[in-house]
Amino acid sequence: MSTADTRISPLKMRQAQFRRAIHHMGHLKRGVVDFFLRPKRTLSVCFPVEMDDGSVRVFHGYRTLHSTILGPGKGGIRYHPKVTAREVEALATLMTWKCALIRVPFGGAKGGVACDAKALSEGELRRITRRYVAELGDNIGPHTDIPAPDLYTNQQTMAWVYDTYQALHPGENNLPVVTGKPLDLGGAEGRSEATGHGAISALARYLELHPLDGHRTLAGCSVAVQGFGEVGRVAAERCAELGARVIAISDSSGGILARDGLDLAAVRQHKAACGRVDGLAGTTTIDNETLLTLDCDVLIPAALANQIHAGNAADVRARVVVEGANAPLTPQADRILQERGIPVLPDILANSGGVVVSYYEWVQNLKNESWTRAENLARLDARMQDATAGVVGRRDTLLAEHRDRQRPPDLRTAALAIAIERLSRVTLERGIWP
Ligand code: NAP
Repeated sequence: MSTADTRISPLKMRQAQFRRAIHHMGHLKRGVVDFFLRPKRTLSVCFPVEMDDGSVRVFHGYRTLHSTILGPGKGGIRYHPKVTAREVEALATLMTWKCALIRVPFGGAKGGVACDAKALSEGELRRITRRYVAELGDNIGPHTDIPAPDLYTNQQTMAWVYDTYQALHPGENNLPVVTGKPLDLGGAEGRSEATGHGAISALARYLELHPLDGHRTLAGCSVAVQGFGEVGRVAAERCAELGARVIAISDSSGGILARDGLDLAAVRQHKAACGRVDGLAGTTTIDNETLLTLDCDVLIPAALANQIHAGNAADVRARVVVEGANAPLTPQADRILQERGIPVLPDILANSGGVVVSYYEWVQNLKNESWTRAENLARLDARMQDATAGVVGRRDTLLAEHRDRQRPPDLRTAALAIAIERLSRVTLERGIWP
């Protein structure tokens, strides 16, 4: 179901969240914050690709660099039919806040090609990727703008990104030009699990600070997850490892429910065999809309944007929501859940684990080192837990100070406040050019 609020421009949504955060801040230098509202640049490319049947199709791609205040741009590449320049700009903006909050030395960037990856062959995807990277030219680079995987792109895509860039820039160490690569090609151990794993680290720390009906840990909690991709599947598996009962999960074809808890290994096998999660023996088939309104402790939307909106937010029965995906809640849904006392761990915090381990991959590529999976994930856990405690602490301080009784500050506002303050401080330390 779509409602008017799901049609809000994603960039406008980010700008509204930003304005809400600065409303609670008060001491920022005039003019500096305007600099953060719009991206530095957006490149739009249009290119032909020869398809397997010999025909030629034209594709549209984008790459936005939002900010380089904290370092080179960093952000994924997504392949989805609905990719637009506005969506990419909004996602690049989010990356700036995310990197600032989680303290990695990157700015925000994002890219995408409007295409239906599932309807394309491997050869077609390879040719699209190579041509897209060639069109971006020197607008990406190990010290300027560093892509990574996102929706419907993966390690293989990143290997093609590297190979194409390397062909165009021979004789240099180009491994750090892209992260999320296969392990044999300088990828970091644990990168593919990092976002889902990090989301659950943040949740675990949040529960220690704000127990849920007496639960200080995930043990015994019931969890519903929308999405069975790199984020949703790993988040579900991590919850189960920590003793939670994952009662429902879904993909683009629909979902499954088992009140006593799903056997996630069986779900994985079924998905590998049939390409979808529904139909697994011993489970009830549900649709995605039902999954979002199940009675459960934790709801993790980890698929697409705008899944919880004005039309269904009042029906959400979870006790805490963790934004595994980017922008799975519309601003109206955010407000409704806040009024209903349902905390939301915002995307800027909850799904930042991917960029953290991407940063570790970049460092390892620059230094020609290889850290173990345990090392990468232990460092990630510590960083996610610190960031979560920082956001919760900041929210509590803002709550104590806030004058806006209409809309008290929430975790998203607190996370943004930390990020914006850091960016403002560094902008002024560097000095406005010239
Ligand atoms: P992914 O591996 O491509 O998986 C996406 C999952 O979402 C798939 O299971 C897909 O179903 C499902 N899906 C697609 N459309 C759906 C719909 N209409 N209803 C329910 N499920 C649907 O992508 P991902 O890497 O997990 O990313 C998921 C989200 O997290 C995106 O918003 C992405 O921007 C965000 N994110 C990802 C990372 C990262 O490191 N991967 C980092 C930060 C944020 P099928 O399996 O049927 O296709």
